[in-house]
Amino acid sequence: MLERFLQWLFPDTCLGCTARGALLCQRCLQHAPRYREAPPLTGAEQICIGFLYTGFIREALLLLKYCGQRRYAGVLARGVAPRLTKTYVAVVPLPAAASRVAKRGYDQAVLLAEEVAAYLQVPCWRGLVRTRETTAQAKLDRNQRIQNVAAAFAWNGTIPDGGVLLVDDICTTGATLSEAIDTLLRAGIVCVDVMVVARGNTKPSRSPEREGLH
Ligand SMILES: [Zn+2]
Repeated sequence: MLERFLQWLFPDTCLGCTARGALLCQRCLQHAPRYREAPPLTGAEQICIGFLYTGFIREALLLLKYCGQRRYAGVLARGVAPRLTKTYVAVVPLPAAASRVAKRGYDQAVLLAEEVAAYLQVPCWRGLVRTRETTAQAKLDRNQRIQNVAAAFAWNGTIPDGGVLLVDDICTTGATLSEAIDTLLRAGIVCVDVMVVARGNTKPSRSPEREGLH
């Protein structure tokens, strides 16, 4: 009731076109620049990268990651998930570093994975864990990024009886995702597909730490 009143008082407006009624309207989601190149990942059978990390998609991801605007997880997840064509036994988030989760109070990849799992009507399994802290990837060149995330993950729990969908917010060089895929396959998961909301620019960012690119 209160929520409906607040919506009436302060309606959501689309980040793309300022239309009222949604955080991102369907029209803007359909017309947002999509990522169409060959994905930079190996090991995954299917890779779904939703958008280019630019414009209002970038803005929505920054609001989700750094401004506590958790509701963008739902709108972004539902903007990409309809493009998935396979079924999975579970959706698995690629966990953010513990220090960053502690600072923010939540993990945006988990929020996204939960929304994708709800859309696909399968469970969200948080079995992929980080085994150690890693340096923010954006500060590093490609080789340093690969070394930085080597053996940074482990699978903690029973092995799902079927393929899983690994979900993350942003991918740049793909080093972190590739390491996570490798960890899942080594653990014995038969098939790993990937869904990422957006692919970042691989050129150095003006403020890489803020962008949190990896
Ligand atoms: Zn719009």
